[in-house]
Amino acid sequence: MRVYISADMEGVAGVTAWEQVETIGGAEYARSQKLMTAEVNAAIRGAMEAGATSVTVNDAHGRMRNLLPEDLHLGAQLISGTPKKLGMMEGIDRGFTVACFIGYHARAGSPGVLAHTYSDVVHRLEVNGQEMGELGLNALLAGYFGVPVVLVSGDQVLASEARKMLEGVEAIIVKEAINYHAARSLPPRLAREKIRQGVARALSKKSYQPLAVPAKATVTIKFTDPARAAAAAILPRSQCPDAVTVTYTGADYLEAYQAARSLIALAKSS
Ligand SMILES: [Zn+2]
Repeated sequence: MRVYISADMEGVAGVTAWEQVETIGGAEYARSQKLMTAEVNAAIRGAMEAGATSVTVNDAHGRMRNLLPEDLHLGAQLISGTPKKLGMMEGIDRGFTVACFIGYHARAGSPGVLAHTYSDVVHRLEVNGQEMGELGLNALLAGYFGVPVVLVSGDQVLASEARKMLEGVEAIIVKEAINYHAARSLPPRLAREKIRQGVARALSKKSYQPLAVPAKATVTIKFTDPARAAAAAILPRSQCPDAVTVTYTGADYLEAYQAARSLIALAKSS
């Protein structure tokens, strides 16, 4: 049983502010690195207990150098650094049995803690008309490789996003969002215990169904302002139905996924 873990930071217990997840936060950021690493270690422990033969962890936040390699559980391998062609899902392949998303956050425009979709320049994102955030985009990419996402952890808004999209998913709520910048959080040690148990439980289920992925995918991104959309529209084969919206139709989901990330990167750099 090979287990893939994509690890973000905003959904970790105790985290409610950007300073806590950006290097500019200094000591606050360094503390979040420890909290994030500990939640990932709890997931690895749960996976090992359930019989995982290998665990791959992909650092999926910001510059993707947040997890502390020296503190990582010995049962896992770590992918870190950026850029990576598959970004938050680097390293995923058809050989994985299941995937888990740890420390994830809700999509842009939702009432979750630090809710966003890749960047604050994205107002709304859709795949084939269905609104989604990073959870949805990455779960579909796992589905593209035939890998089911069996567990997610984050706040309650992220959990309901996951339950709507992923049948039978274990959604571990480590904090209740009060608003964008405030939450009622579990003590981190308790959050880790829930994650460990949740992963072990999820992996012991007999059957998993990977997400069905459409053969052709159109991604539609509504940016916060026309200047961002104009910058994104530099990407060949993209289209602008209006001043703030850019669309891209990929030959398959993988192409649409990479196009979405490229559009956002272009918009961000403007
Ligand atoms: Zn993040």
